[in-house]
Amino acid sequence: METVKLNNGVEMPILGYGVFQVPDYEECKNSVLHALKSGYRSIDTAQAYANEKAVGDAIKESGIPRDEIFVTTKLWVSDYGYEAAKKAFHISLENLKLDHLDLYLLHQPFGDVYGSWRALEELYKEGKIRAIGVSNFFPDRLVDLLSFNEISPALNQIETNVFYQREEDHKVMVEFGVQHESWAPFAEGKSEFFENELLVNIGRKYRKSVAQVALRWIIQRDIVVIPKSVTPERIEQNIDVFDFELSQEDMKAIAALDTNTSKFFDHRDPKMVVQFRKWAEGL
Ligand code: NAP
Repeated sequence: METVKLNNGVEMPILGYGVFQVPDYEECKNSVLHALKSGYRSIDTAQAYANEKAVGDAIKESGIPRDEIFVTTKLWVSDYGYEAAKKAFHISLENLKLDHLDLYLLHQPFGDVYGSWRALEELYKEGKIRAIGVSNFFPDRLVDLLSFNEISPALNQIETNVFYQREEDHKVMVEFGVQHESWAPFAEGKSEFFENELLVNIGRKYRKSVAQVALRWIIQRDIVVIPKSVTPERIEQNIDVFDFELSQEDMKAIAALDTNTSKFFDHRDPKMVVQFRKWAEGL
């Protein structure tokens, strides 16, 4: 598996396995087990996904040495703030049955980001987390956080796919040494993603599926990617992307699919900020 080196020297697989929207314990555990059997060595979960226990049990059951698996989880907004963040971190560790995390992310750029970040910095210094980072931060929020804190985020996980390519965000992350990670690499299938004519045609040339072309395009931009699937053949297909390379011409053609618009929502939309506060309060 190819890796990227984070800004603190920690290496992370460039492709991992995401488990958003897999709340069922058995389905999640079996899917993670299948992913590990298929060669994945990085798992992305979050306390908000309510499946950390299943992920932890799959890791244990797999028998793969702990230091060969890169585990990421995230702090949810309801637990933001210095004290609450520390408490939530220990709950995640317990759920996952681990003694340390590889990567811990602030899931959203809202609420007491600074207090939470201080908690993460301390846990990092204590050796309980190998790298700390953020998710869904637009460049202004990201550069604010890294400019006024001791430890810079190692990574920012943001929606990134052929329809929303994040070229400007990417440039800022490269400039400040923050690794770009893609979520929703298939836009969760929206806008007839898997039937896209350009991707279908490019896939034909390489004898690869639309999903594989989409993942390869992200990897060739040096972006970490964490596709989700609960379908065994797709889990296998999504990691089978290291035996071909898209030409510069194909990379350019795919660049033209960018709409520079989220397929979900904009984290800068005030209505969404209010919505997140309601979610944080359990409303
Ligand atoms: P995604 O990976 O873009 O899409 C998942 C969808 O694509 C599922 O419906 C899956 O179906 C289907 N699929 C997967 N592989 C396929 C293939 N080879 N051919 C056809 N269909 C395929 O969406 P996502 O789960 O939102 O994003 C990936 C990961 O990013 C998440 O699991 C999570 O870890 C992370 N994420 C983070 C955030 C954040 O705020 N930080 C937000 C969203 C996601 P089946 O499962 O039925 O096979």
